[in-house]
Amino acid sequence: MALPRTTPGSMDAVLDTDESAAVAAAERLEGIFEALPLAVAEFGPALLLARANARYRALVGAFVPRQWRPTAYDAFPNALADLSEEIDAAVERAQSRTRRVAFRAAGGTLQMVELTFVPIPSGGLLIVGTEVTELEALRQALARSVAQLEAIFDVIPEAVRVFDAQGAVVRRNPLAAGEHAGVPIESLRELWRLDLPRRSDGASIFVHEHPAARALRGDTVRGETLVVRRADGDEKVVEVSAAPLPDAAGALVGAVVVERDVTERARLATRLAAEVQRANELYAVVSTEAERLEAQVRERTAEVARLEETRARERRLAAVGQLAAGVMHDVNNALNPIVAAAHLLQLHADKPEKVRDYAQRIARAAETGAATASRVGRFLRMDPHTLSPDATLDLAQVTDEVIAITRPIWAERVGGGVVRLQRLLVPGLVINGLAGEIREALLNLVQNALDAMRGGGTLTVVVRAEGGEAIVEVRDSGTGMTPEVRERALEPFFTTKGANGTGLGLSEVYGVVRRHQGRMEIDSTLGAGTTVRLVFPLSAASAASVAPRAPQVTTPRRVLVVEDNADGRELLRAVLEEEGHQVTDVATIAAAEGMLARVPHAYDVVLTDVGLPDGSGTDLAARVRSRYPALRVGVITGWELTPDTLADAHFALRKPVDAIALLHHVAGRSNGDAGD
Ligand code: ADP
Ligand code: MG
Repeated sequence: MALPRTTPGSMDAVLDTDESAAVAAAERLEGIFEALPLAVAEFGPALLLARANARYRALVGAFVPRQWRPTAYDAFPNALADLSEEIDAAVERAQSRTRRVAFRAAGGTLQMVELTFVPIPSGGLLIVGTEVTELEALRQALARSVAQLEAIFDVIPEAVRVFDAQGAVVRRNPLAAGEHAGVPIESLRELWRLDLPRRSDGASIFVHEHPAARALRGDTVRGETLVVRRADGDEKVVEVSAAPLPDAAGALVGAVVVERDVTERARLATRLAAEVQRANELYAVVSTEAERLEAQVRERTAEVARLEETRARERRLAAVGQLAAGVMHDVNNALNPIVAAAHLLQLHADKPEKVRDYAQRIARAAETGAATASRVGRFLRMDPHTLSPDATLDLAQVTDEVIAITRPIWAERVGGGVVRLQRLLVPGLVINGLAGEIREALLNLVQNALDAMRGGGTLTVVVRAEGGEAIVEVRDSGTGMTPEVRERALEPFFTTKGANGTGLGLSEVYGVVRRHQGRMEIDSTLGAGTTVRLVFPLSAASAASVAPRAPQVTTPRRVLVVEDNADGRELLRAVLEEEGHQVTDVATIAAAEGMLARVPHAYDVVLTDVGLPDGSGTDLAARVRSRYPALRVGVITGWELTPDTLADAHFALRKPVDAIALLHHVAGRSNGDAGD
């Protein structure tokens, strides 16, 4: 494009000297003018557009006709601002001005252009425009980022300082400004002087070791713990991080230092460590103490065991002595009547009743002797024997027998008075063991219970199951035991009954229970009574029958008992009545026949002893059977059961009478005879 012929005067000289050179220079200038990355518009002294380059036309192009010669005031029709002030300033006051102006570009988009208004000394005006749209957008984005960063800077719970390369503080956030009671800290050196930072091991650090100083040398410091001093003299533990700040070219221009207050955390950690330490120390002390105690306990235990052994040996020796004395006494007692009876036997050999009487006395005395012997035997047999697994017994049955056997002597044993019986016997609890031993044990318990109830009381006997175990309890409402007596009750030969006691009862019971893999519990309250409880493992056989069963209903029978021995009579009566039968008893055959004759159908069963003062029970049986065929007849004998004995009776029993068998026969269960 050709330059308009409004060449400024300064150029005329060049043209004059060498016209062709001048033209070349003008063309070169023209080239430069067009190539400039700026929009340039030149206005003459009359402020009419004299010359403009392509960039200018591009800037205003869409609105400008080709040969348009507007004044400076109208030369930017799409500018979104009035430019007259800048134009006036340049033209009238020869002042250069620069201003950012928005232009509406083709398509309606906005364009930011920086316009510079330059006065031309010879008159006129040059307006130069640079496009700054992108720059402006960047500027605004930067401003937003800075605003965001500043907001973060203000709000983070850490003290932040920015240092320049010389260590002067160029920026700080409010938290940093608030440290040291608000004293403004201007440099790293000042900060170091006020903080007096120390490492957590107490060593002071020099200023050049400060994280900020290290960051200013290009190092990055992460979470270094320092102890610093604060204005009011208290100390804070801070965690300091620092990073160098490079400029765009990577040159170090400063550092940023972030400081977090971890005093509370450090305090807690210290306390925790102290606690742990203390716990460890305590643990050490306790372990040592525990070891010491353990050793002591071991020592004591050994000592106790030694003492116990010695004492047991002494006790056993004493026991053997007592036992020997007791045996001597008992044997003598047993021998006395034997000797006497033997003597009398010789004298009265021809009188059968006397012979029978003496023979019975001898038998009784011998029984006492035998009991003594077996007691000694039991005492000597301390070792537990193994029970054959098929030796079993029904606990209720054995207990019932014991009650039946002893009941006749209860009143006498308590020295006169009423003994009330309460019993609850759950049948079918089968345990592994020897009926004889269990019976013996229960006998002892019942005896003790009676001994404790002088003048009468209530005896309670319970057989029940609990948690797979069979329990038999003998409870009395007697004197109870003092703690001392309770303590020693199981000792062999310990008795509070003087000459009336042997002190062997409970120790025997204990032995029996142990041999049956059971245990023994004694609850006793002084003045209120005692409960002795024997607990045995239930045998597998009873598993099915542990559930309570309805008690067996026995049809009551009217029984006539013929027995000359008062004890025997009483016993039979007790056993039968216990079961609900009605009993009439007499001591002679004559009395029995009298009773039968008086009311022929008053009885269902006649039960007779064989050896009676006025004849033989078997004869009576024969007569009764023939005269009263509806009556059941049973005989009881102290001798062997012979076919003779049995001939005339429905059933025969041997002394001592087995209560169960007796009841069984009296009930008539053997042959289905249903009386009534
Ligand atoms: P013994 O009956 O010959 O004295 P035991 O070994 O049976 O010997 O009992 C020892 C002691 O335990 C008895 O002398 C008595 O003091 C006490 N004792 C046992 N059973 C009872 C009980 N049911 N009530 C009160 N004391 C009892
Ligand atoms: Mg006893």
